[in-house]
Amino acid sequence: MNVFVLNCGSSSVKFQIINTDLDMFETDSDRRVAKGLIERVGQDDAIINLEAEGQEPVKTVEPIHDHREAILRIKQWMEDPKTRINGIHSWDDIHAIGHRVVHGGEKFAKSVKIDKEVLAQIEECADLAPLHNPANLKGIYACYEIFGDKIPQVAVFDTAFHLTMPEEAYLYAIPMELYEKYRIRRYGFHGTSHRYVAYRYRKLVGKPREEVNVITLHLGNGCSAAAIKKGQSINTTMGLTPLEGLVMGTRSGDIDAAIVEYMFNKGIGSVADIFNILNKKSGMLGVSGFSNDMRDIEKAAAEGNHRAQLALRIFALRVKKYIGAYMAEMNGAEAIIFTAGIGENSVLIRKMVCEGLENLGIELDEELNKQAVRGKCMKISKDSSKVAVYVIPTNEELLLARDTVRVVKDVPRQW
Ligand code: AMP
Repeated sequence: MNVFVLNCGSSSVKFQIINTDLDMFETDSDRRVAKGLIERVGQDDAIINLEAEGQEPVKTVEPIHDHREAILRIKQWMEDPKTRINGIHSWDDIHAIGHRVVHGGEKFAKSVKIDKEVLAQIEECADLAPLHNPANLKGIYACYEIFGDKIPQVAVFDTAFHLTMPEEAYLYAIPMELYEKYRIRRYGFHGTSHRYVAYRYRKLVGKPREEVNVITLHLGNGCSAAAIKKGQSINTTMGLTPLEGLVMGTRSGDIDAAIVEYMFNKGIGSVADIFNILNKKSGMLGVSGFSNDMRDIEKAAAEGNHRAQLALRIFALRVKKYIGAYMAEMNGAEAIIFTAGIGENSVLIRKMVCEGLENLGIELDEELNKQAVRGKCMKISKDSSKVAVYVIPTNEELLLARDTVRVVKDVPRQW
């Protein structure tokens, strides 16, 4: 099957076309045949990047006024005889569409085929993710407008994997009515990524899912950790929204909630202004004062910039804190898995996170850590380490494509 994997943000449309099918999962013979990104959707100077396997990318700047126009532009490119995507000449060669949907609330514990009822439920969840779900919905509606019911559409939720958390992990210690009435609880995000790297790990070591006990660290622009026990997420660091937990590029992660009132009383701004600071101006950017990009911060730290060094220490300490917490919660883990932009690339962060955890049974091999290169699964702990440490590249799009195939063919999910 050719699956069109779509990830719509408020002003961006990202896609991949993946050739995959049930019999290809075991052999990992799925293939990405095209990918692309349209940024600045809604503007006259949208940036378009489209790339078919083995061909020169198309890079242009054009007016793209909404998500529908963005998808039509991709369709036009796909159907252009000059483009030549392997096995695809027109939209008739696309067999299903898989949408990334950020928030599935408590309703969606797995990926589902989209119909009117599902759409209404995703609309309901928009309240919980006002920055994300409306954009995801625009992508779904645009596909309906363009393709009607001809192509099955599937929703894959960032929250779904974490719905296995027990009550004591997902409930906040606030009056229960707030949960009962407003569903205020921890949901967690990056579920597709945590699930994917745990799956890769189990394939690597040859274990059934029920025997996987690992801590996964998704460290990218957004960061979260997950405790996966007997193959299920039993806790994760992000909460009602992606603001909670680890320190991120521009998000603070955990803070004392009373800080919000204190800032408000100090006249720093409205509640919305304060949350804008916590979401967009904090984290590595806030502490370093100059960048949210770990590469810039590492470089400045090496040159002696104190705030950059401090930002690195705060970042690493928060990750360590959750490793400790999850080791306790799981009564020990067999492996720690680093993934995403920072997790896959930063030798320094992996070293800082693992440093001083020998008494927890975590011994990083510094040479192997340096050898880990992006795109490769690799064990980077010493043979003597009780807890193995791995770098495993994430691939959320592939999991989206595979889930789409499973849902369309009505095959139960397994990872
Ligand atoms: P992601 O959200 O997974 O795409 O991760 C993006 C982030 O990964 C960037 O903002 C960088 O901070 C980080 N990153 C990418 N490459 C490197 C690198 N070579 N060293 C350190 N951090 C990196």
